[in-house]
Amino acid sequence: MCGIVGYLGTRRAYPVLIKGLKRLEYRGYDSAGVALITDRGDLQVYKTKGKVADLEAYASDKDVTGCVGIAHTRWATHGEPNSTNAHPHYSESNNLALIHNGIIENYITLKKQLEEHGVKFRSTTDTEVLVQLIEYMQKSQNVDLLTAVRLSLQRVIGAYAIAILDKSNPGQIIAARKSSPLVVGIGEDEFFLGSDASPIIEYTDKVIYLNDGDIAVIRRNEELEIVDFNNIPLEHEIKTVDLKLGQIEKGGFPHFMLKEIFEQPECLKDCMRGRINVDQTHVKLSAIIDYKDRLLAARRFIIVACGTSWHAGLIGKQLIESICGIPVEVEYASEFRYSNPVITNEDVVIAISQSGETADTLAAIQLAKQKGAFIYGICNAVGSSIARATDTGSYIHVGPEIGVASTKAFTGQVTVLTMLALALAKEKKVISSNQYSMMVNELNAIPDKMEEVLKANDHIRDISRIFTYAHNFLYLGRGFNYPVALEGALKLKEISYIHAEGYPAAEMKHGPIALIDDEMPVVVIATQNVLYDKLMSNIQEIKARRGRVIAIVTEGDTSVKALADEYIELPRTLECLEPLLATIPLQMLAYHIAICKGKDVDQPRNLAKSVTVE
Ligand code: GLU
Repeated sequence: MCGIVGYLGTRRAYPVLIKGLKRLEYRGYDSAGVALITDRGDLQVYKTKGKVADLEAYASDKDVTGCVGIAHTRWATHGEPNSTNAHPHYSESNNLALIHNGIIENYITLKKQLEEHGVKFRSTTDTEVLVQLIEYMQKSQNVDLLTAVRLSLQRVIGAYAIAILDKSNPGQIIAARKSSPLVVGIGEDEFFLGSDASPIIEYTDKVIYLNDGDIAVIRRNEELEIVDFNNIPLEHEIKTVDLKLGQIEKGGFPHFMLKEIFEQPECLKDCMRGRINVDQTHVKLSAIIDYKDRLLAARRFIIVACGTSWHAGLIGKQLIESICGIPVEVEYASEFRYSNPVITNEDVVIAISQSGETADTLAAIQLAKQKGAFIYGICNAVGSSIARATDTGSYIHVGPEIGVASTKAFTGQVTVLTMLALALAKEKKVISSNQYSMMVNELNAIPDKMEEVLKANDHIRDISRIFTYAHNFLYLGRGFNYPVALEGALKLKEISYIHAEGYPAAEMKHGPIALIDDEMPVVVIATQNVLYDKLMSNIQEIKARRGRVIAIVTEGDTSVKALADEYIELPRTLECLEPLLATIPLQMLAYHIAICKGKDVDQPRNLAKSVTVE
């Protein structure tokens, strides 16, 4: 959610900052801004509503000199998205400029107190309170910027990643974090700041991931200093990021989303690499080897997640319950954290988040930890907050996901959950060796079968043209494919803004059937598994009401094909692995419908990639 970039070094800061903001565009935002200490020693702020390109146009005739700067893409939480509320925010005297990602929860109280001392505010954001408070502290206590930042942050409740420039100290940036991600890049005679490593990797692979409560002081010609709120120096490990520039570029595809849909076979191979050994037919997850006793002793699993990751969790529940016989509950992290849940030290909580920064999921982890649960994380972003907050876990290793609507992370999460279920079942000795090796082999064959499904891209593009008119869509599935229906509907909503609902197919007659008429497209996942006949009846019910059926069928099917208006074939696989294939055409359908409607698929309106606020 929102993006932060910073630079201090020997190059011109402005181009580095603009390029960095572009690399963070995927996170979703509504306005953008930059602050520079120019060659003339001015602290200049340029900001505007809209895209980074609008900021560039706005700044094209301005002084963008200088080798120190900070930049921001805002995703408004407090105050409408306009140029006044965009970041950076000046302090009252215009001596300080600050950017912020997160929410200052006690901003009303702080604002009132500052106003009583005569401070004038320009914006309606929570963020401005912070820069005004810091300047007020500087002046009223007669202290340097670092001390003013420390004293101010001690009074702030909320989540933040911040960076501040001070006109009177041009060779310095101060940055801090609590519950919002911030990375410092360390180059030769230069430093970078980023919400993640993507704006940094072009220049250096050496980074420090700041922890909650860290304040980083970046000074020209000095070593990086990190202190806590009480000015106690903190040690920090410099990590090497293993991220290639090509991984965060479009590679010939018109959109990141399409690239990421097409990458899925390779991504799943990466996800399984070193974990599935087909010759000896086994799955090896180091987390399960290292924490075998703790995991086998679990009374139940509780999966906490949000959005698409929650849908992966619903599939994970069916996998773990059916293969391992361990009870599993799936909770929205946002509900779980406030529900006073009954948790004991016999529970294992599985936290799923692509970015590893999802605020609600992090809070759910903290709560479950306090209550004694063991925490297993499933994340994509290496070194993320969730990856660090959990007891153990498995990365999905699908590479950076840039498109806001999640695609490859979902199939990566389902793949890890499948491997987890198989490895646990084997350890628990509740799976026969025949069934185990058959499942491992089938899982291993999924990437090739996905390649087959991807060949339907042109066909799906043609289908999507027929249905662009629709204002509503219904998605139906059963069993393992019910969460796929939810995920398909979510994808369409997210990027085409068409209202879509996912339902377990049998629930249709308890309400949604009232919506069906000759204008209502219904996507039915009707593969040939144990519930095939039931789904056939559902399709008959839809057709009897003149609904339009787009069916996802098993290759060679004739019965559903005869009834459906349109169909898309999938290679045959095990029922529990069908979600990995059935999701692909639904991703492509959402993509092509959104393109037909002229929508910005990689940065859909109102959405953020990494939801770091609650
Ligand atoms: N709460 C701040 C605002 O509304 C920051 C939002 C963000 O993270 O971009 O300006």
